[in-house]
Amino acid sequence: MTGATLTCDVVVIGLGPAGASAARAAAKAGARVIGLDKRVRPGEPVQCAEFVPLSLSSEVDRLADLAVQPIEAMATFTEGDGPRRDPLPGWIVDRARFDRTLVERAAAAGVDCRFAAPVGTVDVDGVSLSDGTRVVAPVIVGADGPRSAVGRAIGSVNRILSHTRQITVPLLVPHLATDIFLSKTMPGGYGWLFPKGGVANLGLGVDAPARGFLRVLLEGLRAGLVREGRIGWDVLATTGGLIPAGGLLPPVGRLGTRDVLLAGDACGLTNPVTGAGIASAVISGRMAGEAAAARIAGDASAPADYADELSDLFGSALARAARRRAELVAACAANRAGPAELERAWIAFEDYWTAPLDDVEEPTTSGVAA
Ligand SMILES: Cc1cc2nc3c(=O)[nH]c(=O)nc-3n(C[C@H](O)[C@H](O)[C@H](O)COP(=O)(O)OP(=O)(O)OC[C@H]3O[C@@H](n4cnc5c(N)ncnc54)[C@H](O)[C@@H]3O)c2cc1C
Repeated sequence: MTGATLTCDVVVIGLGPAGASAARAAAKAGARVIGLDKRVRPGEPVQCAEFVPLSLSSEVDRLADLAVQPIEAMATFTEGDGPRRDPLPGWIVDRARFDRTLVERAAAAGVDCRFAAPVGTVDVDGVSLSDGTRVVAPVIVGADGPRSAVGRAIGSVNRILSHTRQITVPLLVPHLATDIFLSKTMPGGYGWLFPKGGVANLGLGVDAPARGFLRVLLEGLRAGLVREGRIGWDVLATTGGLIPAGGLLPPVGRLGTRDVLLAGDACGLTNPVTGAGIASAVISGRMAGEAAAARIAGDASAPADYADELSDLFGSALARAARRRAELVAACAANRAGPAELERAWIAFEDYWTAPLDDVEEPTTSGVAA
């Protein structure tokens, strides 16, 4: 493709859950769509604990076919005490298969999906791949994850990020809950054990300044669970990644004559407290794709309408989560994060929803790209 110029109605950058959903929706609405992803294969390597809520079935057909096992509840441990058990119906999916299936469905809708296609620059002239190929389209959808190049081009940057580390381990005792471990040693984050059939995803996330402790904290979590006889000692895989934790960014902008729409992690749709972002990526992707196609069909207000709808749907939940996380980061930094502070910053507890929101400073430097 070197040096070539490709034209289409909508170019989608990133073919994860947000991008594949956006591309499919735009193509189904009649737009000519090219989707680009730097990965060689969809969804690989997996950087995810792989839980999706049951409600995602309304967006993703035959979701159960992509599941490895069901989840019934969330079990929350606070500084080792507990668990508190809350209903949380969902699935642990095979995330690589999940992403691949969404891409196959986009391709079946007519999207020209291209992998091993890293986008180098995004500017008023369009999109340039690293090999010099240009893709020119009146609408650009940025679904390129937490460090979105498209977002950067329109000034929407995820500045607050959680850092994570995760291992896959043998699961010795079958389990139907997602286990959550809250501790003041994990500022702005938590540990998790998500069962996946005969194995489990064991990981944790923290605010950026604590990222140097990820390895030792995870080893501590692993040793405790091995002692309890819940997991085996082997490490079958290691992964990690960044999670936007600052809340919703402005999801639309212009580059010269082009409209730009962001979806998924690219516009900060991952919940800053739970780190859950697959469902919001799929939903926002579908909405962005529909808006992109409407823009192509002549509806000049479609991008602004998309921004309004996104804010209505996700804005206040994300704002609360971002504040709760900031409160916890501040409490940890001041060495006053006890069980009450930890629980106020976790969705299972009533205080999360009802306690007044503190006027804490956002941890503005904590997540700036390392
Ligand atoms: C360790 C970890 C565990 C998580 N666990 C869960 C969980 O259990 N449940 C949950 O709901 N959420 C979880 N999340 C969050 C979830 O993975 C994300 O919210 C979700 O993947 C967002 O989808 P997306 O399509 O917006 O972005 P991504 O899935 O990040 O997709 C972005 C795509 O853009 C591509 N891309 C990036 N830059 C370029 C470029 N320059 N050129 C071309 N392509 C590019 C990437 O290759 C990628 O395929 C977890 C995240 C992490 C890090």
